[in-house]
Amino acid sequence: MVHVLLVEDDDAIRHGLTRALGEGGDSVTAVRTGAEGISAAVDQRPDVVVLDLGLPDLDGADVLTMLRAVSEVPVIVATARDDERDVVRLLDAGADDYVIKPYSAAQVRARIRAVLRRSAPGTPETAVVVGGLRIDPASRSASLDGADVHLTRKEFDLLLVLARHAGSVVTRRSLLAEVWQLPWGGADRTVDVHLSWLRRKLGETAAVPRYLHSVRGVGVKLVAPDDLP
Ligand code: CA
Repeated sequence: MVHVLLVEDDDAIRHGLTRALGEGGDSVTAVRTGAEGISAAVDQRPDVVVLDLGLPDLDGADVLTMLRAVSEVPVIVATARDDERDVVRLLDAGADDYVIKPYSAAQVRARIRAVLRRSAPGTPETAVVVGGLRIDPASRSASLDGADVHLTRKEFDLLLVLARHAGSVVTRRSLLAEVWQLPWGGADRTVDVHLSWLRRKLGETAAVPRYLHSVRGVGVKLVAPDDLP
């Protein structure tokens, strides 16, 4: 889950984006002034800030400068189309990316993901081990009981997300968001089809599951066979 601080004075945009990001699984702190934004950035340590440039109390560029003085948090600025010179200036001043208004929530979410990926370069990604399954994000390899399992890119991403949440049900919506970057749904069959391929490669079936358990109407849970009651 990503904690987003949204600084936006337009009520409709703020409410809409807060709801949309929340539905996509993020937690959102929404404020409407630059001063509130700076104090929330300090107090709540969000993972990323989405900063509107036209705020009622302070100039967005000044807010950015103040933010940069107190925090390394990635900042995405939101601006009107004709502000291109401003955007360059803001990127120079420490913004990580920008979105042009009017933007869709999907666009903002994609920028957030991209910024977070970039802001964590070289973060060592440790292997996830669940029972006999070992999934190594660094080498993008997986093995089961010591034998390599050859997965496609999406199968690997799907398995990794499930393994990182081992023991918990992951909803189809979360999977579409995390693996396919489709936070607002998509073809429902996408998850099921990839899941069935993944099952085959792990040598199990939906009828006789070992690691991958469908929870009807909810989602999927990955558990080590030994952890089953
Ligand atoms: Ca505004």
